[in-house]
Amino acid sequence: MEIPSILPIDFDDNLNVVPSWRFLCLAEIANFGPLRRHLGALRADGLIMDVADRISEHLNEARLAVVGRTIVEFVFDGEKIDDAQAALDRLRLIFDEAIDLDGEPHRVELLFGGAGVPVASADDIRLAEEAEQAIEEARFTHVPVFRDLSSTAPSFDRHSLIRDLEKALERGEMFLQYQPKVHLRRQEICSAEALVRWQHPVRGLILPGDFIPAAEDSRAIGPLTLWTLAQVIADQKMLAAAGHDLLIFINISGQLLGDAAFVARACQMVQSGGARIGFEITETSVIRDPETAIAHLQVFAEVGIALAIDDYGAGLSSLAYLKQLPASELKIDKLFITQLTSSNRDPLIVRSTIDLAHALDMEVTAEGVETQAAMALLSVMGCDMVQGFLISRPISIGAFRQFLEEDRHLSAAAEPRGSFFRPASFWKSA
Ligand code: C2E
Ligand code: CA
Ligand code: CA
Repeated sequence: MEIPSILPIDFDDNLNVVPSWRFLCLAEIANFGPLRRHLGALRADGLIMDVADRISEHLNEARLAVVGRTIVEFVFDGEKIDDAQAALDRLRLIFDEAIDLDGEPHRVELLFGGAGVPVASADDIRLAEEAEQAIEEARFTHVPVFRDLSSTAPSFDRHSLIRDLEKALERGEMFLQYQPKVHLRRQEICSAEALVRWQHPVRGLILPGDFIPAAEDSRAIGPLTLWTLAQVIADQKMLAAAGHDLLIFINISGQLLGDAAFVARACQMVQSGGARIGFEITETSVIRDPETAIAHLQVFAEVGIALAIDDYGAGLSSLAYLKQLPASELKIDKLFITQLTSSNRDPLIVRSTIDLAHALDMEVTAEGVETQAAMALLSVMGCDMVQGFLISRPISIGAFRQFLEEDRHLSAAAEPRGSFFRPASFWKSA
């Protein structure tokens, strides 16, 4: 039988196609036992290499790794979600044909499990975990199982999440990570953003995208944000005592801008702690009830809380409100930054946003800076600050302090721009 190669995956034919999906799939030898009995243990142990070779022959863009005697992992990109299912279906057909093993034809039965996620939001760990669960399911169903992670949160039911959230603070399950921002002209770390994480006793690490919306619906967001503020004030004191005086931003959900009790309590905590705090807010949150929100933002500004407009360009934007907000910083959403050097449109949008913000007397931060090329272009465009994986992933307070210490040594040695970068080993230990 003539088996067609898997066209959507081979981008050599069409260099204009930008892969927008990342797929991680696992293939497992289902009839390993009978084959081992027939071939002997030694030959059977090498069988997975024959499987890997056959997969890579037909999926030439895939990156393969043998992860055991019976399993091979392959990662590849595609244009659309259907490409993965098509690839798995073709591979299944291909493995219906016998393999020649030392001159004898053998059928190697394979199980397939996989998961796919849009490249822009790729979370490699979750991708691997979901693919493992998919192969587990395939062991029962004996058909390829594929999970589309673009819309589903990892099978959490909202009700129990909300119930657990109420206990999480008391049980000390929440913790913060910090991500620095670098001022390009001053060549220094000027501030940091605190990002909350939840170490759930059963579900493991949960990122904010998966629980902040539930916290907002359940009213847990107020106590959670006050806890974050208190923790940041304490961490900031510790850093200041070590000689690192730094403005720290926290994220404030929209409905808290309409909550007078929250506003009063937050101001009181910042003032009595003598802290240097900034709040990141989105324009969308102001548009809901502009009068109250803008009045509360004025209160924050009066007590010295710096205000940054977050995710600019990702949601609703209104120049009328933008002008009225007492913000000193505008953060361009990572949506426009991660593709900056490969897109025609994004540099124009970013350039005009920088000019607009400067005209309104605001400094500009680009978030989601992942490459040197993006940082260089932003610098030429007059962007003031950058934040992103290039400089640092969000890290624990201990690792953040170490980052600041090392930076101080490097800048004392008058090392130029490269001083913000750390070897991969640094992040592994962070
Ligand atoms: P955000 O405020 O836009 O935070 C930045 C997000 O981008 C963080 O995701 C961060 O890990 C990620 N990020 C940073 N640099 C890069 C990069 O170079 N490339 C890419 N692709 N991503 C990057 P995270 O930590 O998952 O936070 C997601 C969102 O959750 C935040 O988005 C923020 O809106 C919300 N959030 C986090 N902590 C809190 C909190 O304490 N309160 C509230 N209300 N919301 C929070
Ligand atoms: Ca933010
Ligand atoms: Ca943001």
